[in-house]
Amino acid sequence: MDKQFGLSKSKYCKGVQCPKILWMDTHMSEKAKLGDDSVLETGTRVGDLARGYFGENTLVEFNLDKGKMVSDTKRLIEEEKGERTIAEASFYWDGLFCSVDLLRVHGEECSIVEVKSSTEVKDIYVDDLAFQYYVLSKCGMKIKSASLMHIDSSYERHGELELDKLFVVKDYTDVVKDKLQEVEDNVRQIRLFQENTEEPEKDIALCCEVPYECAYYDYCHRHIPERSVFDIKGLFTSKKYEYYHQGIISFEDVIRCKPKLSDKQLQQVETDYFDRPDVIIPEKIKEFLDTLRYPLYHLDFETFQQAIPEYDGLHPYEQIPFQYSLHIEHEDGRLEHKEFLAKEGTDPRRAIAESLCMDFPTDVCVLAYNMSFERRVLKSLATAFPDLADHLLAIRDNICDLMIPFQNQHYYTKAMQGSYSIKYVLPALYPNDPELDYHSLEEIHHGGEASSAYANLVNKTPEEIEITRRNLLKYCGLDTYAMVKVLAKLREVCK
Ligand code: SF4
Repeated sequence: MDKQFGLSKSKYCKGVQCPKILWMDTHMSEKAKLGDDSVLETGTRVGDLARGYFGENTLVEFNLDKGKMVSDTKRLIEEEKGERTIAEASFYWDGLFCSVDLLRVHGEECSIVEVKSSTEVKDIYVDDLAFQYYVLSKCGMKIKSASLMHIDSSYERHGELELDKLFVVKDYTDVVKDKLQEVEDNVRQIRLFQENTEEPEKDIALCCEVPYECAYYDYCHRHIPERSVFDIKGLFTSKKYEYYHQGIISFEDVIRCKPKLSDKQLQQVETDYFDRPDVIIPEKIKEFLDTLRYPLYHLDFETFQQAIPEYDGLHPYEQIPFQYSLHIEHEDGRLEHKEFLAKEGTDPRRAIAESLCMDFPTDVCVLAYNMSFERRVLKSLATAFPDLADHLLAIRDNICDLMIPFQNQHYYTKAMQGSYSIKYVLPALYPNDPELDYHSLEEIHHGGEASSAYANLVNKTPEEIEITRRNLLKYCGLDTYAMVKVLAKLREVCK
């Protein structure tokens, strides 16, 4: 740790999650998995915007020399009187450093406001706030209140952004005051832990995943066998660690100790452990196939989210569709492909809604894999564009879910590892088929990468945009082609 400005608020929060994280950061940072930059970028953008919530404000510029930030803050507090807001006001006391997102100064008193880009409050945010309260009070500040400001998911943008509606501010003064002794104890423990010269012994626990998945997860879980309680689908994370601490770790342990599991979870473990044959119930699969009629329209959307909605009618973090792929399967075996990818930097919703109305008749059988997502997207487009609503809602109402035979375990194999997600089902049905291998795609291998890639197109050169757009089309195209192949396999086993 930085000798002089040892423990910052972010380090304190890491230490509260697990003190070993800070030790690892200091001594073995090469073992950390890289984080998602887009989360940090969102936090920065939201933080910058929130500065205007209380009107005029003065920013304490970031400086590697934290002492400069502290002295700038002191000057700003002393040189003016009356109500004002200082962003990134910085304080130091006995090895503890914090920059307050927004410090409201009212004469002799001040209020701390911590800004979060999420739509709800996590316990760790209160720890963060308590640390700041502790440091400021030790610095002799008279604190009137301590609050958390976060995004209000019910806000709907119309015209100019309304910061007083986009953000909600909640007072946590009393909760934070009750935590001050805890802060002192935590700081002592974190410091003690940091004194270890050898890697400290710290067993894995729920804190490896809550409140955030730790960057050292893979390193600290390296002793876990390949098939373990951590692989059981649908089992609560807290249960996984509870069983782990009871010594129930491998599938063999599960078979021997019989912990409480659902029928599906037990089936996953037993199928794997006893190498049971595939479960295929043709009559049930046929019942599902009989609900479909040609031509079949295989549909898949890609969406992205904006913490700060850029366009009218959007809520924070609403799923915004920007792309779809459509494979049309005819009874004679012909396969047509259509696709849509919105222009970058525009509101994609109207264009995608119009394209859907052109590509989809109102009376055809539409297939989606996990249809609730596609149905939600179509409903939100119908709400946004009443003139297209009847058509869009007809498409929605025509959707059948290709996931059903797998979800109901009418087709289950060991390779599906207890999951009915297409990312497990597809390789289980077509092992080692390079044509269906998402890993062989360039740049975009899953929905998360597609969202980030589309949102970032605006920051790229025309050549880069062309390449990424091509990769986006390939990725989404594979999603619906995979559905065609999954359906073909269902038909094959019913012959
Ligand atoms: S993986 Fe778990 S034990 Fe390891 S440093 Fe992270 S939180 Fe601590």
